[in-house]
Amino acid sequence: MGPAPLEDLISAFAKLPGIGRVTAQRLALHVLKRPREEAEVLANTLVAAKDGIQYCSECFNFTERESDRCAICRDERRDERCICVVEEASDVLVLEANQIPFTCWAVCCLRWRASRPRICVLGNS
Ligand SMILES: [Zn+2]
Repeated sequence: MGPAPLEDLISAFAKLPGIGRVTAQRLALHVLKRPREEAEVLANTLVAAKDGIQYCSECFNFTERESDRCAICRDERRDERCICVVEEASDVLVLEANQIPFTCWAVCCLRWRASRPRICVLGNS
């Protein structure tokens, strides 16, 4: 049993998905070993992401707080007739990071669009 602030930090990390108690302890100890400035950057980045991100009004992907529509919906090179359906907005990050060759696709988060069914096509064939 460590000091209460350490236990609080471990508990906070342990609430994250996929982080067990051992990993939470490792992360907490890592934070304690690093300079205070790094902890501030991490804390400020968490709050900035929480405050600065919202869901796109068109497709429910993530977008900046000041943008009504996400970068995909604003991208005029994409063909909105060709839709890639994903369950979560986080799935879009994976697709984009892997550069899946959908040169024209919009995105639709199935969970949010359940009440508004659309014809959905994967790829652009
Ligand atoms: Zn969008």
